[in-house]
Amino acid sequence: MSGKKKTWEEEALEILLSLKKKEEAGLNNLLEQERKERSENPRQEFEPDEMVSQTVPLDDIISRTRKRVEAIKTAIERHKKGNYGICQGEGCGEQIDIKRLKAQPFALLCLKCQGEKEKKEVHKRINPAYA
Ligand SMILES: [Zn+2]
Repeated sequence: MSGKKKTWEEEALEILLSLKKKEEAGLNNLLEQERKERSENPRQEFEPDEMVSQTVPLDDIISRTRKRVEAIKTAIERHKKGNYGICQGEGCGEQIDIKRLKAQPFALLCLKCQGEKEKKEVHKRINPAYA
């Protein structure tokens, strides 16, 4: 036994690095899939009828995955600078709850700021004309 116990921050960095690998691989797969679909259906345009389709469009999944990869990268950057786990919400700067970070290591906002952000996003979704 070395006696040196890993700190939560060290653990978090490992989780973030493996998550990044996983998400980037997933993103590459999605982009590959998109390229295939495009070449199989080169004429596919956004017809109004297709907009009511129930399935989540691939574009949507890709942009969500991309956002997640970006968030993970940002979290890793912040880890290097030594301010990992500090809420990025405007004028907040609170330490994000460790339970929240364990569930979502790339969280950049505390629960309160996240809640406010989601409220705004829901508002946008309900009123797409104002987006
Ligand atoms: Zn906050």
